[in-house]
Amino acid sequence: MNDLKLRILYVEDNPDDQLILKRSLKEKMPINFDLITVDTGTKGLNKIEKENFDLLILDYRLPDITGIELVKELKKRNIKTPIILLTGKGSENVAVDAMKLGVRDYIVKEGIAPKRLINSIKDILMTSSLPETVDLETAKAIATLFAENPIIQIESTSTLMSNPKSEIPVEQLVSALRNLAEIDIVEEEPSRSIIACPDCGSLTATLYLECPECESTQMNKEEALEHFDCGNIDFRTKFDKDEGRLVCPKCGKKLKIIGVDYRKIENWYRCSNKHFFGQPTFKFVCSTCNGRFPLEDIRIDMLHNYKLTKSGSQMLKLGMKATELTEQSRDKKSSQKT
Ligand SMILES: [Zn+2]
Ligand SMILES: [Zn+2]
Ligand SMILES: [Zn+2]
Repeated sequence: MNDLKLRILYVEDNPDDQLILKRSLKEKMPINFDLITVDTGTKGLNKIEKENFDLLILDYRLPDITGIELVKELKKRNIKTPIILLTGKGSENVAVDAMKLGVRDYIVKEGIAPKRLINSIKDILMTSSLPETVDLETAKAIATLFAENPIIQIESTSTLMSNPKSEIPVEQLVSALRNLAEIDIVEEEPSRSIIACPDCGSLTATLYLECPECESTQMNKEEALEHFDCGNIDFRTKFDKDEGRLVCPKCGKKLKIIGVDYRKIENWYRCSNKHFFGQPTFKFVCSTCNGRFPLEDIRIDMLHNYKLTKSGSQMLKLGMKATELTEQSRDKKSSQKT
């Protein structure tokens, strides 16, 4: 069983309304919750100051103060618990005031649909557990990854990728994970250094080779032989004659003893313009901005693995529950259709 319990405070003086809301939540909420009810604004305020709640549901019409006045009092005390305001029909001006004060949702009480209420709670839970820099879709994708894997690794070969893979673009994933690390939802561990493009910072640089003389990027690499007598260096295949005999293609003499009249060179390159060289120039191309740069100019960045922190796990549980709620209401809709 899930140990996570949602604490909701409902400020409502009408016993019938108290009962209706309690019943709606009981029927439709798949998350464990405590619903605490008080019947005046003052009692509500006292309780909110003393205890922690995940959500406040306030009736607009209370015996002592209005719901809006209560919201203002909370604002004065810098209490940021998400609020849903309930009100009677035809109070559009109240709705506008409420939204201006940062109330998260506004629901008309008459014929309150449990589904509407649950959806509202779901959205509020999801967004209030997130930093502003991470949007809901990204958070859901990250929650899905962490639900099945304890660690997300970021890797880069020619393209950046995550292990496990995500349905959202990896750049988006990385920037979201970095934001989440800043606020302690995930912790990041350095995994390895990586080459970053000096122009755009992208981590998708690919190594390529150039001829040091003409910058041709087309070359062969083979074993080569150097004939001391005439100074000719060429690929071994050019010296190979029938029956394993070696003959210099430049001077036509037979090669005799290795180390005496010729030597072996392990790595020899020849470019498409027929330049020979022992080592090509290392260059990088950025697959994001297409910039090209030599080894000396590279920037070094760090790849990380990401793990959920304790508070991150808590957030994830809320997030997953919220996703469950979405899927349940979606399932219901599609089963009603068929
Ligand atoms: Zn060349
Ligand atoms: Zn020769
Ligand atoms: Zn670049």
